[in-house]
Amino acid sequence: MVATLIISGIIKLTFKQTYSVSLNGEIIGYTNDKINLQKRINTYISSGNGSDIAFVEVKDLPQYTACLLKNNEETNDDEIFEKVTSTGTPYFKYYAITDENTEKVYVQTFENAEEVINQLKNKDSANAKDLGIVEKYETAKAEFKEVSACVDELYEKKIVYTSVYRDIGTQIVNEASVPTDLGVTLIRPISGVITSRYGLRWRDNHKGLDIAAPKGTAIKAAAAGTVIFAGNGAGNGYSGYGNVVVVRSTSSLVILYGHCSEVNCKTGQQVAQGQIIAKVGSTGISTGNHLHFEIRYNGTAINPQRYVYN
Ligand SMILES: [Zn+2]
Repeated sequence: MVATLIISGIIKLTFKQTYSVSLNGEIIGYTNDKINLQKRINTYISSGNGSDIAFVEVKDLPQYTACLLKNNEETNDDEIFEKVTSTGTPYFKYYAITDENTEKVYVQTFENAEEVINQLKNKDSANAKDLGIVEKYETAKAEFKEVSACVDELYEKKIVYTSVYRDIGTQIVNEASVPTDLGVTLIRPISGVITSRYGLRWRDNHKGLDIAAPKGTAIKAAAAGTVIFAGNGAGNGYSGYGNVVVVRSTSSLVILYGHCSEVNCKTGQQVAQGQIIAKVGSTGISTGNHLHFEIRYNGTAINPQRYVYN
């Protein structure tokens, strides 16, 4: 009994109660304060460094084993913390501002992202309604931009309809002079919302019918015929129409599909009625995704709604 007390007394004098800490089976140090060290490590793993690092993915967690350490040996909590956290992969948290679901610019905080979008809305940027915010967790930081730089980069001026249609040699004609029968029955090339009709529009005449639909919507040939032009209309007699498909159906009848995101036919090709010839887009002079559907009869643009969408 006495001997036991003496022995435990000697142990207390020369050793202290401590924990060895091992990582991957290898002892990396000793701590007197296991609870505090564990807490420090867990906090870092779950919430990063409190600023740009969101959390840390750690492969191996330390193991603690109670042991006795000689009084003259040191514990090394800071070193253990460094070792454990340095094996982890930090994830950075930041925000992407998207335009039509494509990431465009990156900012550090959600508040900055909101500020950019608000400023673009206030400036009536054409893409304001297509903007979004995505929270990012990545192992590498993106290149962050200031709010003002983001606004400058994302701002899109709204293009108003200009007199482009006046320059293509067609003109709005008297309803009475157009045929009641084109010789072919047209089908609707797309379904969608009619956003602008044939006729007078602002200070200009509109030579076709605008039908809004999502980008990529398939455009079907309203009538069979020969493709007399497919491609970018700029400099090819169809400026302002963007990507355009022009199909001749009869000697009198030509149908034009404008502002396409892509064309799916070639000049010279025969197309059947209902065949997909292009996709809806907003190329050329356009303020949003729509099909400009134009019917020319003996070279004159006539009202498509006399024959279809009526
Ligand atoms: Zn139009």
